Amino acid sequence: MKFYVLFGPPGAGKGTQAGAMVERYNLCHLSTGELLRSEISAGSPLGLQAKALIEAGNLVPDEVVEGMIESKFKSVKEVKGFLLDGFPRTIAQAEALDAMLAKGGEAVTACISLMIPDQLIHERIAHRANIEGRADDARPEVVENRVKTYHDKTEPLIEFYKKAGRYHEIDGVGTIEEVRDRIFTEMDKF
Ligand code: ADP
Repeated sequence: MKFYVLFGPPGAGKGTQAGAMVERYNLCHLSTGELLRSEISAGSPLGLQAKALIEAGNLVPDEVVEGMIESKFKSVKEVKGFLLDGFPRTIAQAEALDAMLAKGGEAVTACISLMIPDQLIHERIAHRANIEGRADDARPEVVENRVKTYHDKTEPLIEFYKKAGRYHEIDGVGTIEEVRDRIFTEMDKF
């Protein structure tokens, strides 16, 4: 099984590119952001806990997303692997992921990192706010906090995956097709 981590700041294009990636490589797409948003719409206890945190631009607790991911690993069959989108987002989550995979003799295949400059993060999210209507995209101070959270808690994962020899950086600036083709060129190697 392949386990890809799709990494990048908010607005880097992870959700946009994920569809083409799962189709080409027969992967199951697991987006913790999407899973959390469906818990919120369903009004589940987990959704209620996550809502305020997400709408303030903070992370939900590590144990919550780790539990969601582990239960999906167990329930999804008949794929060649998984595309983890928005997970891990902290070093603790990355360690938990390694431990989960190690139980089945597996490991992260590659961290595919979509990089864009901070300025573009703001432009893309402002644009998306008009299209998708996500509460956490609409307020500039919330976007600011998400970018800060990314730099403080998530960016250290770059070193984590570099040390593991699993880090593959893709320039996320360009058209959707240009970025997609750069990703495919990299992933065709695995
Ligand atoms: P984006 O990448 O645009 O920030 P996501 O849909 O991936 O959007 O995530 C939206 C929000 O969901 C995050 O800002 C965070 O509050 C929460 N979230 C998603 N994934 C995680 C995670 N792995 N750990 C903690 N919180 C998460």
